[in-house]
Amino acid sequence: MKRLLLLLLLAFAASAQTVPGLPQLDSMSARFAPTPLRVDTSRLSAGDQQALVKLIEAARLYDTIFMQQLWSGDLAEYQKLQQDKSPLGQARLRYFWMNKGPWSDLDDYRAFLPGVPARKPLGANFYPEDMGKAEFERWVATLPPAQQEEAKGFFTVIRRSLRPGSHEGHEGNTKETRRKLTIVPYSQEYRPDLEKCAALLRQAAALTDNASLRRFLSSRAEAFLSNDYYQSDLDWMDLDAPLDVTIGPYETYNDELFGYKAAFEAYINLRDQAESAKLDAFARILQQIENNLPEDPQYRNPKLGGAAPIRVVNEIIAAGDGAHGITTAAYNLPNDERVIQQKGAKRVLLKNIQEAKFRSVLIPIATRLIAPKERADVSFQPFFTHIMAHELMHGLGPHVITVNGQPTNPRLQLKELYSAIEEAKADATGLWALQYMMDHAKELNLSAVLHNGEAAERQLYTTFLASSFRTLRFGLGDAHGKGMAMQFNYLVDKGGFVQQPDGTFAVDFTRIKAAVRDLTHDLLTVEAHGDYAGAQKMLSLAVIRPNVARQLARLQEIPVDIEPEFVTADELAPPPGAKIAKPKPPPPSRPKRRRKIRR
Ligand code: ZN
Repeated sequence: MKRLLLLLLLAFAASAQTVPGLPQLDSMSARFAPTPLRVDTSRLSAGDQQALVKLIEAARLYDTIFMQQLWSGDLAEYQKLQQDKSPLGQARLRYFWMNKGPWSDLDDYRAFLPGVPARKPLGANFYPEDMGKAEFERWVATLPPAQQEEAKGFFTVIRRSLRPGSHEGHEGNTKETRRKLTIVPYSQEYRPDLEKCAALLRQAAALTDNASLRRFLSSRAEAFLSNDYYQSDLDWMDLDAPLDVTIGPYETYNDELFGYKAAFEAYINLRDQAESAKLDAFARILQQIENNLPEDPQYRNPKLGGAAPIRVVNEIIAAGDGAHGITTAAYNLPNDERVIQQKGAKRVLLKNIQEAKFRSVLIPIATRLIAPKERADVSFQPFFTHIMAHELMHGLGPHVITVNGQPTNPRLQLKELYSAIEEAKADATGLWALQYMMDHAKELNLSAVLHNGEAAERQLYTTFLASSFRTLRFGLGDAHGKGMAMQFNYLVDKGGFVQQPDGTFAVDFTRIKAAVRDLTHDLLTVEAHGDYAGAQKMLSLAVIRPNVARQLARLQEIPVDIEPEFVTADELAPPPGAKIAKPKPPPPSRPKRRRKIRR
């Protein structure tokens, strides 16, 4: 089975022209494990419960807007697929919905349908499909500065005007018979959908009893129509409510041409009270952790600045750019530098998504690669607590340093090596800090929020070991993968991780604490010195050794990621058409095919 899957995927990779057939499409979908998302909303106030329904409806509109942004033919193709009731048609429809378009996210956006461009256009539908980089740049250079800024702005698309551009003059006596480029604000391009969205946000604002949510929803509704998102981004930073909402045009990854244009995405979440309390407790002792970091005391920061806010939430529904390909597990927004200057950025951790990935991906990995007697120690709580510690530790350690008498920072000094070193630092320091907190739980008043004792320690390190294999699967091109390969080999060489005769791995609890402490020390010192050569030396460990490669090869058929099914959202606000296209009971041979057919 595993071989077959691999062969099918290789066949797809080898022939860009051939579109995948039914078995191949099913294998491609199977890389995502279907995962029902249920969130208990019963504790919300009556007003928030009603507001939530409006917000789910607004989020769904974002799927439609995002699909228009991805490709001009996207919605028409989607409608066509919905008519095709053959098994192949249904498989195509399902995979289309998972990617929100006819190109496979996991396969470098190669087409899996006939009669569509072979790959996603680099500029998506933000620019005319026949426009190249050079034409855009020539055109922008002719514009006054304010319009140049708009042309490159987050919230405009570039279109060809209705008038032919040949008499515009700038191109000389050009054979340019194409029409001239023009700037269209999102508020105009997506007007009908944005008007509906704004109305729903206003209704939700009137229903909620939380003032900060009301303020954000009102100013964001206004932004949809005015195209000015600044005030609503500020209000989003101040949002402090049980219903945690992110809705707007944000990330620019879909614009592979320039990275200028923001795609619409929505996350409607519920704040996780218990984890928020834990986070608050950790935040209170950050200075004490900094004061005890395993590094030369002269590098410690005696006065940490205010930490960037972190929210822990459970996702009820994600839509648009937030709902295709690999599922978002955390986000850091906004992207507007003016807002970041004024208020910083906010990190939102999606706990139930992390948990779903843990169950669908990490547990199967542990079952294969962790020594049998230690498998039971792999658990979600330490996995998630370490993610929180990782995020907090980005704010600790050397940030302003002195090299050759000049003030500078680790990013400037370590250049292209910085990301991998900083990610490894956050991981290792996170482990070290959690050990420190467990050792001092009583005096730090953490006993109520942090499990400690021998069992908790076993879980922490064994879960980290299992999760390191998950990260190594991302490859060494990714900063997290590279940083993890280095940490893994460092801890193996120090005897903290040990391969067993059967090929699996286990933690040596007599060595792991000292090994993590040394690793933390070395990473912090490289950053404190801005030591490029030292970083290079550490990253020479960022390789997959043959004995590890053999183990990773055993993970082939484990899902790469999850496919969330928004069960609670669908119950609270049934999607349009849900009653007409009832889900068929899944055939016994394919238990994974579910619900999404209704779309
Ligand atoms: Zn990080």
